[in-house]
Amino acid sequence: MRLQNRFKRILDAAFDGCGPNQDDCIYLLSLPGDGMEAAMLTAGADTISRKRFGNQAILLGQIGIDIAPCPGNCKFCVFGEGHTTFEKSRLSMEEILSRARDFTRQGDLYALFLMTMHEFDLDYFLQVVERIRREIPAHTQIVVNIGDFDIEQGERLADAGVNGAYHVRRLREGKDTSLEPEEREKTIATIRQAGLDFYYCCEPIGPEHTPAELVEQMFLGIRHGCFQHAAMRRVFVSSAPLSVNGQITERRLAQVVAVITLASLACPETKNIAVHEPNLLGLAAGANVVYAETGANPRDIEDDTSQNRGLDICACRKMLYEAGFTALLRGDGTSIPLDLEYVQRTSEPQQSEVSGGSQMNNTKTAMSK
Ligand code: SF4
Repeated sequence: MRLQNRFKRILDAAFDGCGPNQDDCIYLLSLPGDGMEAAMLTAGADTISRKRFGNQAILLGQIGIDIAPCPGNCKFCVFGEGHTTFEKSRLSMEEILSRARDFTRQGDLYALFLMTMHEFDLDYFLQVVERIRREIPAHTQIVVNIGDFDIEQGERLADAGVNGAYHVRRLREGKDTSLEPEEREKTIATIRQAGLDFYYCCEPIGPEHTPAELVEQMFLGIRHGCFQHAAMRRVFVSSAPLSVNGQITERRLAQVVAVITLASLACPETKNIAVHEPNLLGLAAGANVVYAETGANPRDIEDDTSQNRGLDICACRKMLYEAGFTALLRGDGTSIPLDLEYVQRTSEPQQSEVSGGSQMNNTKTAMSK
């Protein structure tokens, strides 16, 4: 078999635990997607990741609790105030708690994510966190996906029982969004300072982003010691201005996942790799995490994504099983065997679904903000 020498050298080093540098990552992202090297890249990253994380997967669920024309004005998001057709709305506390119960009913959710728009009411948000903390099992963590915040706010979140925060300095932040890249990075430093787990992602990837841009952005997460690294493609939504640039394929996304998996070898804090939206190609290229979603979703034209794009928890669990993972890790470090019997048993309709009281649905596809 003829493989490029540079590729062989990078992959050999990765198998020895040494991740590629930025130049090597640019090279890996420039490999033609239909070549042998790209195929070996995803296979190699998959093997390395399964060994690193013990072939355990993580199931996450996100509730988008509010909607508003958002001053973040991201040109890839349906809520950007310059182009959105959504009006302000918010899930009631009871609705949020009901969805939290649905996500955690089977006892295998690692963490529940709560998402707001860029601007949010911290006092109200803390009330939500406190109510949810009392409602869900202790082994499920709480992670926030909110706008920028300072250290005082970060400490209040931690005191209320929040374990982590998803925050990204996005690709072309400040150009494709109205937000300051420096503020985004400042919040990332705050997350670490407040003692929260830092969830990062290379996003939202479109066909126009060069390998050098992707690499520069993905290494920011590594420099800041991300607990979770990830890759997410921009989803085509006709109302989003950047949709004119099209959408990358899941196969291309898998190549990015593979590069992130190898690059993250340099980051001992990284404990898992996610792919958004959930898909099997990403889970066979180094990712071991997917998100179920309900409520608001920046990539969905429905105000409740569980009625459209949002993949439900049963479908996410089944996808992780089909991808060959043999256990689900919970937020307290314990794990549950993931086998056919477990997937079948946990796929049975719950009481609230039978009575029509739940948004759960077994047939769709989705991801995170
Ligand atoms: S991605 Fe977030 S910050 Fe940007 S417009 Fe959408 S809701 Fe606002």
